[in-house]
Amino acid sequence: VIEIRGIIRNFQLGQETVYVLKGIDLDIKKGEYVAIMGPSGSGKSTLMNLLGCLDTPTAGTYILNGNDASTMTDNELAEIRNREIGFVFQTFNLLPRTTALDNVALPMIYAGASKKERTTRAEEVLTDVGLADRMDHKPNQLSGGQRQRVAVGRALVNKPSIILADEPTGNLDSKTSIEIMNLFDEIHAAGNTVIIVTHEEEVAEHAHRVIRLRDGIIESDVRNK
Ligand code: ATP
Ligand code: MG
Repeated sequence: VIEIRGIIRNFQLGQETVYVLKGIDLDIKKGEYVAIMGPSGSGKSTLMNLLGCLDTPTAGTYILNGNDASTMTDNELAEIRNREIGFVFQTFNLLPRTTALDNVALPMIYAGASKKERTTRAEEVLTDVGLADRMDHKPNQLSGGQRQRVAVGRALVNKPSIILADEPTGNLDSKTSIEIMNLFDEIHAAGNTVIIVTHEEEVAEHAHRVIRLRDGIIESDVRNK
């Protein structure tokens, strides 16, 4: 699914160039379950943003399902992102005044689905993530774990080929973290490719492959299952 060759990502801060990713080669196959770890500032989120087509590299190529995402325009990136990627954030990033159902249905608007299709599919997804009885709740009427379930539902709604999550348990207590990771386990077992950034070894243990970044390069890449 994912083929990365020689990815470099620099940022320009005034006169200064910040070298963040310094040459990443990475292949991830369909159905893999990958954790990305590494110290703060090692480039994990920068890499996830590239994988998620939220950003493009300074140099190198990123082939996603046969499409070269490294040279796409913003519109092309938005289109492939909506079709191929489900992204879950540490801080949930839900619309605050919008119900769980409408938050989940939102990406389907961009995909061109009808109102009826959106509602049916969003109800199905919210049921899958265990929120059948919370569809009309707004984010501030939900617990942290429930908010993250809504965000996971939103990531799944367009049936993407890859689910990316950047520290999805970073704002959750340990019991809720386990529940959310069990949900990612189910998503993986259903055949999805899942890539999760985490600082926590207990979270990484759910994955079948652990990639460690250090200072913008891959320090180790270990399959444990
Ligand atoms: P954390 O574990 O704290 O989330 P991370 O591994 O996700 O860290 P990144 O967010 O990828 O780290 O950032 C890596 C480095 O790149 C940091 O030093 C950061 O300051 C720098 N960086 C990231 N984005 C930008 C930007 N837009 N402009 C300048 N520097 C940036
Ligand atoms: Mg980060």
